[in-house]
Amino acid sequence: MKEKREDNCVFCRIVRGELPATVVFEDEATLAFMDIGSVNPGHMLVAAKPHVANLQGMEAELAGAMFRSAARAAKAIEAVFRPAGISVYQANGAAAGQTVFHAHIHVLPRW
Ligand code: 5GP
Ligand code: ZN
Repeated sequence: MKEKREDNCVFCRIVRGELPATVVFEDEATLAFMDIGSVNPGHMLVAAKPHVANLQGMEAELAGAMFRSAARAAKAIEAVFRPAGISVYQANGAAAGQTVFHAHIHVLPRW
């Protein structure tokens, strides 16, 4: 069978449980886990469960689920890390700084 492009996608592999990750929560459409290269303690990623490369590739329902999970992640970060602020960051395309081409939102505590 022809290999599907997402077979070797690192975030698809985390979603499928093939690679380890510090998972914080999940719902039907999204998975939240700690960023392996965290900029600050508490740096969390919210990834889409289906393989979509970027925001432009999302159906409205998935886009809504992603931001709902980003809010849930921000509340968890607020409760645990008590940061002075929280940034939300989401890159689409290499020119925008995207390095993992499976859509995800960074939820990043700031001090
Ligand atoms: P991007 O620049 O694409 O928005 O960010 C990709 C993020 O994914 C980076 O912050 C990087 O540290 C994180 N990342 C890359 N590979 C892995 C991995 O295998 N596990 C986890 N937990 N995070 C990863
Ligand atoms: Zn993927």
